[in-house]
Amino acid sequence: MADCLFCKIAHAELKANQAYRDERVVAFHDINPQAPVHVLIVPVRHIENLLALQETDKELLGHLHLVAARLARELGVAEGGFRVVINTNRDAGQSVPHLHLHLLAGRPLGWPPG
Ligand code: AMP
Ligand code: ZN
Repeated sequence: MADCLFCKIAHAELKANQAYRDERVVAFHDINPQAPVHVLIVPVRHIENLLALQETDKELLGHLHLVAARLARELGVAEGGFRVVINTNRDAGQSVPHLHLHLLAGRPLGWPPG
């Protein structure tokens, strides 16, 4: 997608503070962090959001979560606890239309979220 912010980051056309990369997934620190640890985990391929996932994307979705767990361990927040969030469409506040997992940690996270 030519005009997609996260496609540009995924294809290294735009710089980000990268935390992880492989051929299918890139993860980078959020530019406007909402917690001491706030990393976005993004498929390299453009997928608009959770509603656009296909049956054939099941393995990719699992991989995104495994990367989130790996980063939680690497960033030292696994034991203390963390949250993984996928905002979808307007009421959830999705502002970038390219699927991404938020990994949030490093402070007590309120429940329910706002
Ligand atoms: P959402 O609101 O769930 O779509 O999340 C989009 C997230 O992307 C927000 O938390 C933004 O702060 C973050 N964001 C926007 N632009 C960038 C960027 N260039 N680098 C890193 N994070 C970004
Ligand atoms: Zn995209």
